[in-house]
This record gives sequence, structure tokens and C-alpha cells, in this order.
Amino acid sequence: MSKNRVLSKFGGSSMADAIAIRRSAALAKKQGSVVVVVSATHGTTNQIIALIDLALKSSWEEAEKHYQEIKIKHLHIIEDMKSSQEMKTTVLSLLQEMETIAKGVNLLKDCSLKAMDTVLSLGERISSAFMTDAMNEVGTKAVYFDIRKVLKTNDQFGQALPNIQDTKTAADMHMKSLLENGNVLVTQGFIGATEEGLTTTLGRGGSDYSAALIAEAIDADVIEIWTDVAGVATTDPRICENAKPIDEITYQEAAELATFGAKVLHPTTLWPAMRKNIPVFVGSSINSEERGTWIQKTTKENPLVRALAIRENQILLTLTTPRMLNTHGFLFQVFKVFNDHKLSVDLVTTSEISVSITINSPSILSKSLVRDLGEIAEVRLDENLSLISLVGSQISATPGLAKKVFSALEDINIRMICLGASSSNICFLVDTKEGREAVKRLHAQFI
Ligand code: ASP
Ligand code: MG
Repeated sequence: MSKNRVLSKFGGSSMADAIAIRRSAALAKKQGSVVVVVSATHGTTNQIIALIDLALKSSWEEAEKHYQEIKIKHLHIIEDMKSSQEMKTTVLSLLQEMETIAKGVNLLKDCSLKAMDTVLSLGERISSAFMTDAMNEVGTKAVYFDIRKVLKTNDQFGQALPNIQDTKTAADMHMKSLLENGNVLVTQGFIGATEEGLTTTLGRGGSDYSAALIAEAIDADVIEIWTDVAGVATTDPRICENAKPIDEITYQEAAELATFGAKVLHPTTLWPAMRKNIPVFVGSSINSEERGTWIQKTTKENPLVRALAIRENQILLTLTTPRMLNTHGFLFQVFKVFNDHKLSVDLVTTSEISVSITINSPSILSKSLVRDLGEIAEVRLDENLSLISLVGSQISATPGLAKKVFSALEDINIRMICLGASSSNICFLVDTKEGREAVKRLHAQFI
């Protein structure tokens, strides 16, 4: 495979301290990366959220302790990296900005999503300054690049949606010639800007998505996601000790896995990669010699079940009404309620007089949703369920698969099954207390 335009993304654990940052920089050099996208240093985004939370609720003295923790952590990195004066100045002024915003929030006891995005962006802006220095130190021609010039989004602060076309145009304008002149651009994941230049974020964990969006905009040949595990595993190793790394997986399968609970990749990451057919590599920056996983359009081997995912704390809503029989518009009414509540539904199955719907976490379930649904049907609510999915590109085309699945589960009660909507996935619900056991048995049976 030609490796002329490699984009590498390093997550928070790969940016934890000076040692990790240097190791990541050396790896990026070895890989020949031309664009390096970084997350905030390990834990920093959570710390900024906690800081703002305290600034809203408590005295400045209380909040300031949090700010000092963030500051000290970054001052340590400055020291350990023997940083350039330029980098020091940049990081200190970004920290200053964080303090000023947090104080403002504390005075006003108010923080809009817009303000939140600006303060969150400081995490990535600081870490990318470190990485620029580290990349220079290992001998590449590194340039600090502010991605807000390129990654254009709408103004849905906190969860902004990218504008692909504007991003492409801006990349041609601001990144192309820098790249053609042999620079390595070091930039921020997670953040973007609106047309007017207001800072936005793509949602928690969004750096992977940033990497793929930037790769799409600059026509990269490879996207590398460097994290703290050596690739995507056949299932969560904490649940099943026989879980093993996957060498190759298709986009479709990896997207299903990410959506249904595997934590390695942000689910949206693969869309840009699929659109442009860019292979994605996931590997460990700490043990970069370990094999890692390639995610691409096709794979040499296509096992019946490539991997298993589990998502706990699922809710099942079952709506029943005889009025559904031979009439039209019932499902429309049901989904309109979900739409009015801005709630995303996951699985749906229907019968003649009932429809079952799952949603992802109890925290998003509200009394008013149940009340509104209650106006159109009788509502039953089941909690404490686990959603298990089997992922593999042959799933819908294999006779007898369902039989094998259900005989492996024998005595475990299955609550709802979805098969057929996606060609590479079969999923079902079981009680949470039996979920992990079900995963173990299925892993033993199929993998
Ligand atoms: N730093 C951001 C977060 O923790 C984005 C990311 O790491 O992907 O959510
Ligand atoms: Mg991450």
C-alpha cells in the first residue's frame, strides 16, 4: 500500500506526559505522518468540565484548586520537555485564558454551551503545542496548525456537525501548500469553528472523528488512530479473557461494533473514511510493534462472526394498542413523539398490535416521554437490559445462524431480536445480569 499521505491521531493516553508525548512524536516520524492530530493530555477534558462545574456552583477558591491541578500538570510537561520559549509562551497564555474564562463563569454563575466549547478547546490547543515541539525535537519540520481555520461546523455547540464541503475548501486553501512544502502539520482533534469563526466541539471523544474528517479533506492515504490498546478486539477483554485482537475488519463491521458498544473508536469516525475509501489503522502508541487492526473496505478473511459487542443499561419500551391493527400512521405518531423529545432510538421491532423500541441509557428517559407515548398506546417499560450484537459481514446470508446463537444461549431469556435490518449484524436483548455470560458463551461458540 502506498503510504505517501499518512495522518496520525494520538489520543489522551498517548499524550499523558512528556515521555508519552516524545514516544508519540517518534512514532509519528517513523510512520512518515504528514498531519498529526492530538487529543488533550490524559484526563484534561474531564478536568476542565469539573472546573467549570465547580465555577458554576462554588466559590472561586474551590474552583481554583481544580484550575491549579490542570496548570501544574501542564507546567510539569513544559519542564520535562525542555520546551522552546515559543511553546512555553503559547501554553502559558492558553492556561491564562482558561483561568479567565473560569473566573468569568464563576462571577456570572453562567456558562453557555458556546463558552464551554471555547474553554474545552484549550485542552487540545495546549497539547498540540507540546506535540509541535516534540515533532521538531525528533527532527521533522513541524508547524502548529489551528484546525479552526479548516474544520468548519454548524453552530450546534457541544455536538457540532461538520460541513464537509467547506472543510475541504478550507483545507485546500490553508493546508495544501504547507503540506506540499514538506511541513508536518500538528493540529487539534475535537474542535472546529463555525462560519463566523466561533469555536465548536464535535462531542466527547470527537478527536477520532476530527482525524477522519481532516484525512478526507486532504485526501490522505491512511488514517492511523494511536491509542492505549493494540487495535480492536473480538470482544471486551474485561468481560471475556479469550478476547483477541482482530487483524482486519471491514468498515461496515467496525462501524456496527463502535455503535453497539466497542469503545476503541468513536462511531462516527468511519463515515469519512468510508466515503473516501481510506484505510484506518488502530494501534497502541505504547506497544507500536504489536500488530493492531486494519479497518478497510474488504478483508481477506470473512469469518461468520468477527466480533461481539455489549451495551449495558438499555431500556426497552413496548407500546401496545389494538388501534394499530389495519390502520396507518401509528408508527408515524410514535416516532413523532421521539422526535419531539429529540431522542434517538436504537432497535425497533413491530408486530400487528405492538412496537418495541430500545433507547441507550436510563438518563435520557423522561417522565414526559412516557406520558406522551401513553397518550397513543399502552406503555411498558423494561430496564436493566443488555444489548448484545454479533458482527460479521456474512451474518444475514448464513442459514442456521440464529439456531446456533440461540442454542448457545439455551437457558438465557432473550427479550428482543433484530436481524435483517443490517446485513452484518444480529442483536438482541437479555437481562443485564446474564449479559456477560451470554457474551462469553457466544465468544466461545463463534470465535
Ligand atoms: N479530549 C476530548 C475528550 O476527551 C476529545 C477526544 O479525546 O477525543 O472527549
Ligand atoms: Mg479518545
